[in-house]
Amino acid sequence: MKPFKKYICYTKPFFFNFLFVFSLITSLSATAQNDKLQLKYFGTAGWEISDGKITVLVDPYITRIKLGTGPGVSDLDTRNTVLSSDVFVSDTLLIDSLITKADFILVHHSHFDHLADVPYIAKKTGAKVIGTETTRNILRGYGVPEEQLYPVKGGEDYQFENFSVRVIPSIHSALDNKHYIDNRTYIEVPKTPLKVSEFIEGGSLMFLARFTNHNVLTMASMNFVESELLGQKPDVLLAGVNRSQLGLYKYNERLLAVTNYPKIIIPTHWDNFRLPYGFSQQSGVEQKLIPFQKAVKKLSPETKVIIPKHLGTIIIE
Ligand SMILES: [Zn+2]
Repeated sequence: MKPFKKYICYTKPFFFNFLFVFSLITSLSATAQNDKLQLKYFGTAGWEISDGKITVLVDPYITRIKLGTGPGVSDLDTRNTVLSSDVFVSDTLLIDSLITKADFILVHHSHFDHLADVPYIAKKTGAKVIGTETTRNILRGYGVPEEQLYPVKGGEDYQFENFSVRVIPSIHSALDNKHYIDNRTYIEVPKTPLKVSEFIEGGSLMFLARFTNHNVLTMASMNFVESELLGQKPDVLLAGVNRSQLGLYKYNERLLAVTNYPKIIIPTHWDNFRLPYGFSQQSGVEQKLIPFQKAVKKLSPETKVIIPKHLGTIIIE
């Protein structure tokens, strides 16, 4: 987002003398340094987003269990296999090496690859967690203090210090060739620790995360409710890109149009999350992200699609 540059270009000839403009530019460039947004990709739908004042984690899933025995896992991964019927155990050493602080954690839905590491991270950081009632009840079950939990349905727009967040009702990816639906919720605290399969969806959300000078619209599924996004103009869109969106009607066209063709789009939830960090994700880049990048270029030549790397940081000026 470059609001100041625009402002200067349009107004200088009419209102400012040279000296004033010079000092304005100097002070703005100093401000801009502090207002850079940094987005670190944890893989899956996980992010750390910080503007230097506020650190927000989005679906931070670090453990990346070696789930099942199917084609998604690698023989070179020497970790123990975990089945859906097994209790989920967070890799706390790995989490400690990657996450030291957080002010907020936004949780899109309660599947294990979005929520399962949040109990440990929330207790460790004391972050405020915003998510569904199911998310809240799971976290209560793990002993996350009540004052950290902000249960939402979608439609809330909450102001905090130096940060605000609009919660947007959404829908989950159309899994199983569009046969997926799961309306279960935890209306009471479930018995913990949960098995992998007990991290049920519990409804899906999106978030408009407003930092001082940047708005980030987050997704963590390959689906959205178009009418809920009308009027949103994010600078940065974390767009769900995997395979299931290919079965939706004009996914790219509708998503870009309803979000007003954001300047920056970063694909999310595209990698193979059964593999630990350090394993190649190149096939996902080639098969999912490059085609997406090309499709966006046709629809919105001004939009920059940035391909994220595991644990790499993207800086938005
Ligand atoms: Zn899910």
